[in-house]
This record gives sequence, structure tokens and C-alpha cells, in this order.
Amino acid sequence: MAAAYWILPDACDTRIDPHGEWREAMDICKWERSRCNSVEMGLRRLQLLPMLQDFFCDGRGRRYFLAGGAGFIGSHFAETLLRDNFAGSVTIYDNLSSGREWHYAAFQDDERFRMVHDDVRNLAALTEAMAGHEVVIHLASNPDIARAAIEPEIDFQQGTVLTNNVVEAMRLSGTTRLLYASGSGVYGDLGDLEVREDYGPLVPISTYGASKLAGEALIASYCAMFGLTACVFRFANVVGARQTHGVGFDFVRRLMTDPRQLQILGDGKQRKSYIHVSDVVRAVLHAEGHCTEPFAVFNVSTGDAITVAEIAELAVECLKLEEPVFQYTGGDRGWKGDVPVVCLNADKIRSLGWAPHHTSREAMRSALREMIADERVCYA
Ligand code: NAD
Repeated sequence: MAAAYWILPDACDTRIDPHGEWREAMDICKWERSRCNSVEMGLRRLQLLPMLQDFFCDGRGRRYFLAGGAGFIGSHFAETLLRDNFAGSVTIYDNLSSGREWHYAAFQDDERFRMVHDDVRNLAALTEAMAGHEVVIHLASNPDIARAAIEPEIDFQQGTVLTNNVVEAMRLSGTTRLLYASGSGVYGDLGDLEVREDYGPLVPISTYGASKLAGEALIASYCAMFGLTACVFRFANVVGARQTHGVGFDFVRRLMTDPRQLQILGDGKQRKSYIHVSDVVRAVLHAEGHCTEPFAVFNVSTGDAITVAEIAELAVECLKLEEPVFQYTGGDRGWKGDVPVVCLNADKIRSLGWAPHHTSREAMRSALREMIADERVCYA
């Protein structure tokens, strides 16, 4: 039977027969990482990736580069990738602005781990540090949405510019696979609408949301023009140990300082999905192993929601306090740019076989307990 050969695009001249001889082709280039990258990229484009998952395409054994990896979510990626032997190596590249050394202290002696203390704005250093890696997880950004009210350029400088540097460093270093931490802020204020990834037009109401959307657009264009492949993840509110910000984090810190009263921004009726960081890490690594599109966008959410007032009650319960006085500042939202109701539809990533292990309430309760048990979080 005549073999139907595919000639892979871009830098790779490997010929692959999708009906049999591709295995041989994979054996030939299995140990040549740069060729593997090219082959994998071609297979993603040809939608043939599932055929190769036994070999390397589920992401196992590869060299991961975590921009912003010393922060809350990044340190959980690093921990999971090393603990579960998912990665051949893990490099964290971080300026420690909100990231902390103790976030990665547990695995800093692992020979597969490397920390580079530098800024993503430094393109030359970023490109040099990134060279030789296969997968970039980009998490570096300003984490404080409310800060733009007094520093309007913060999300451009510490969001859009950083993503531009990440994709440019990937182009310069020949690194082809990107997993990007976007957020629900790209959708703007849509009230109770349960929003899917193909919703449009996207009209953010915060500079944070605008910078996430600009980042997605930059990534899509680099995929089309320079041969990157990427998954973009629009996370709900992520909670768990080592949180550096967020409503539960604020409540725990304030109640530990003054257990008699708690100021709550807005009317307490803001209602959002809260997802445990372990579910987020599983979602991203699962999509990495199963998504065959060269550029894909996924909502990552629990599918349910809780209110800010309910979170305050949970914090009081977890801290075992007598009933403190709740003081609401009023209004339907906490700050300029806050979206009071967020409903993400996560059917797309669920259709790949992922499901969260925690509801919003379970995730928040578990996160509050994890934060309360670790005084470094509360007094960081
Ligand atoms: P985080 O602040 O804990 O982590 C961000 C990391 O990036 C920090 O370690 C910080 O030091 C680093 N960083 C920031 N600017 C940098 C720079 N110029 N150069 C190098 N490093 C830099 O925040 P997180 O909660 O872990 O969030 C990680 C990513 O996920 C962010 O991009 C965030 O916008 C996104 N996200 C988070 C949530 C959430 O609820 N936490 C939800 C949606 C999206």
C-alpha cells in the first residue's frame, strides 16, 4: 500500500506516515529535542497529535519555563511538575515582586530545578534564560486589579509589555509551546450570562482585563506568524495555599489583625466562581496533553459560585471567631474595574476529560484553612 506521507511544515523536514511509519520517524528524532519540537508543532497543525501521546506529546519529560513561577499559581505548577515527574526540568524566572523565595524553598535543592531572579521586561536576559526549554507557562503580571485606579499604566507595563516580551523571547530562542494565564476579565461585565470562549465582542472594564485580552491577541498573532502553538486559559478566581492576594486572603489577614470587625468592599452580593489551585494546575496540564489545536482558548471554572458575604462567613467559621461586625462599604462592586458577577462556561475543557475536584465553597474553605495554617501567608 502506498504510504501517505505528510511533510511537516516549518523547520522540520521529517516525513511522517500517519498510518504506520510515524512511529519509526518518532524513534529517529526522539532524542533530538529541537526536532521533536518541530515535529510536535507540525503534528498539532495537522491535528495528528493524539497519535503521539504515548511518546512525548502529553507534556511529560519536557523542560518547562515558568515566567512568574515564584508566585502563588506558578509555585503550584513547579511543585506538581517536579513531584509527579511530569517535567524533565523546571526553571522559574521571576523578579520576586509578588513572588516569594519560600514559595519554592521545598524543591530548590532538586537538581531538575533552577531559579532565575530577573525581570520579564529584560528581553535579553529572558531570551537567554528561556533557550533550551520546550514549554513556557506565562504567569507574570501585576496581580492587583484595583491598583490601576491610582496607577493607570500598571497593567500595560506589567501585563501587555511582559506578554510581548515572552512571545518575542520564544521567537528568538526557538521555544514553541506556550500556556498562558489569562482571566475572566477579558469578558467585561456580562451580568448573569454564562459565557463561553467564543463570546464576542470582548469589552473589558478594567485595564487588567484589557491587558489579558491584548496578551491573548499577541499570542494568537505569534502563533499565526512565527509558528508558536498556545493554549490560553481564562481562569476564574484561583484560591489555595501561598495565595498572594484575593478576597479570602484579605479577610483572613484583616480578621487576624482585628477579630471584632471586618470591612467588606461593596454590598457583599458579588458572586463569582472560586477554583482551587490544584484544579487549575490539573486543568492546564490536562489541556496541554489533549488539546490538538495550534491556538486554543479555555475557560477554567467550577461551574458554580459563592458571594463575598458567604466568604466572610466562611472565614469567620474557619478562624473559629465569635461573630464579628461586618461593615459593608456599599455599592454593587468592590472597586473600579471589579466585575460583580462572573459566570464562566467550562464545557470546552470538560469535553477534553477534565473536571474540578472542588466546588467554589469547598475550594474557598480549603484555601482559607491552608492560609490560616501558614502564618507566612498572613504576615507576608
Ligand atoms: P502572583 O502575583 O502570585 O504571581 C505573579 C508572579 O509574577 C509573581 O511571582 C511576581 O513576582 C511575578 N512577576 C510579576 N511581574 C514580573 C516581572 N516584570 N518580571 C518577572 N516576574 C514578574 O499571581 P498569581 O495569582 O499566581 O497569578 C499568576 C497569573 O495568573 C497572573 O498572570 C494572573 O493575572 C493570572 N490569573 C490569576 C488569577 C487568580 O485568581 N489568582 C485569576 C486569573 C488569572
